[in-house]
Amino acid sequence: MSNPLYDTLFGIHAGSTKPFLLLKDGTHWTYDAYLQKTAQIAHVLNDHGLRPGDRLAAQVQKSPEALALYAACVQAGIVFLPLNTAYTADELTYFIENSGASMVVCDAAKEAQLSPIAKRLGATLNTLNADGTGTLTDAARDKPTKFDTVARNKDDLAAFLYTSGTTGRSKGAMLTQDNLLSNALVLVDYWRFTEDDVLLHALPIFHTHGLFVATNVILAVGGSMIFLPAFDIDIMIDRMGEATTMMGVPTFYTRLLGDDRFDRDLVAHMRLFVSGSAPLLAETHIQFEKRTGHRILERYGMTETNMSTSNPYDGDRRAGTVGFPLPGVELKITDPETGKTIPDGEVGQIEVRGPNVFKGYWQMPEKTAAELRRDGFFITGDLGKVDEDGYVHIVGRNKDLIISGGYNIYPKEIELVLDEQPGILESAVIGVPHADFGETVLAILVPEPGATPNLEAIAEAASATLARFKQPRKMIVIDELPRNTMGKVQKNILRDQYSDTFA
Ligand code: ATP
Ligand code: MG
Repeated sequence: MSNPLYDTLFGIHAGSTKPFLLLKDGTHWTYDAYLQKTAQIAHVLNDHGLRPGDRLAAQVQKSPEALALYAACVQAGIVFLPLNTAYTADELTYFIENSGASMVVCDAAKEAQLSPIAKRLGATLNTLNADGTGTLTDAARDKPTKFDTVARNKDDLAAFLYTSGTTGRSKGAMLTQDNLLSNALVLVDYWRFTEDDVLLHALPIFHTHGLFVATNVILAVGGSMIFLPAFDIDIMIDRMGEATTMMGVPTFYTRLLGDDRFDRDLVAHMRLFVSGSAPLLAETHIQFEKRTGHRILERYGMTETNMSTSNPYDGDRRAGTVGFPLPGVELKITDPETGKTIPDGEVGQIEVRGPNVFKGYWQMPEKTAAELRRDGFFITGDLGKVDEDGYVHIVGRNKDLIISGGYNIYPKEIELVLDEQPGILESAVIGVPHADFGETVLAILVPEPGATPNLEAIAEAASATLARFKQPRKMIVIDELPRNTMGKVQKNILRDQYSDTFA
């Protein structure tokens, strides 16, 4: 009897008194304490009648108990479905119903709203609060601290992870034990994680980045995590000294750079900074190196595939690229129309295949068939190219492609030019409806703090480098780009907002 994911990531630490989670208040949880709590929660799930293959939907704040709930699901063979803490009750109804969850775990503050919904959908409800209290932990308290791990094989489902919903309604990605395990082991190797690592963890644990990439890598090596409820600049700076590594979304890095206390001395001892989930501006990469001497390692992945590419640990970490396909991952660039592989250097759709690629979208056979080819290649929906040195560049999402007067325009190419202009912090280029061209280019600019960009000079600079059809037909200055919790720019919101600019 075995359960590869549980045995490899969790079970091996049974009895270990090593600190696993270092908490904000200065206390810690050892591996043993964590696994005992895990076993107790697994008993609760079992006593509630949850059986292998059943789904458990959890919308809970980040806490050690919440992380033990993940492990308990793995140990009991239950499919774990973590949900963004920002979702409203209406949104949750969709996820609970769509997943057919047998149990819902939520904050006590949401109980009154969710309990009739859970009841209607035939799910039991338990609470788990940010401080670890709740009916789930109450029920767990007197349970045995050992649980007979349920046998699973590597193709059994371990999690449903819903995508971030950046381009539309979130989709439930079915991830197997092996999807998660194979990726964790590859990343350990690629990024040289060892038991001596202490990871500064300020990411949410309802998303693949914080839950699988960060947590599974640390579990695989038996390292420690400074497990913070959220990104708080003072705490980040305060705890940096204890860490060896950090994983973050690009906004973590820009916020750190925005603070004068974040300097070379503070991070001289650090081994590795990793960025992902959204594009890291080349400018941030360069500034970070200037300030600290460290080169951020950028990698690329998504809910459906875990991590697919990474810049090298030893080699050249190139700003504006996401590095090479990870060992075991095949990547190709194809023509969206014909599906045929196109030559290196040309932009097309990114497809990946490997043990990391999910089993399909839950109850969406048509969407699955459209995006997951029979031969195992997954059409990511991202556009990119491979350069002459083999580095993968992401130029944006297929859905963000602008087609103007029959020409394909990649927003990233224009954004790179705009971002370099004096007084510009960042930009978002979108396509908006236009009577003559179908769509035309609109640039949204965010100035650097205190700067007033000279739009005429910027238009002139753009016309010097970009073909006429790519030049923004209009530029609009705003204070901040709309972003979701993972720091992703929500271009769909911008497109809606500015849809009648040329109407
Ligand atoms: P949805 O699929 O619901 O629209 P989403 O694609 O944003 O949402 P995620 O799975 O969380 O949901 O994000 C994956 C996407 O994030 C990738 O497809 C890619 O567009 C983007 N991404 C991740 N890492 C990087 C990176 N290093 N550079 C550029 N884009 C990245
Ligand atoms: Mg996606």
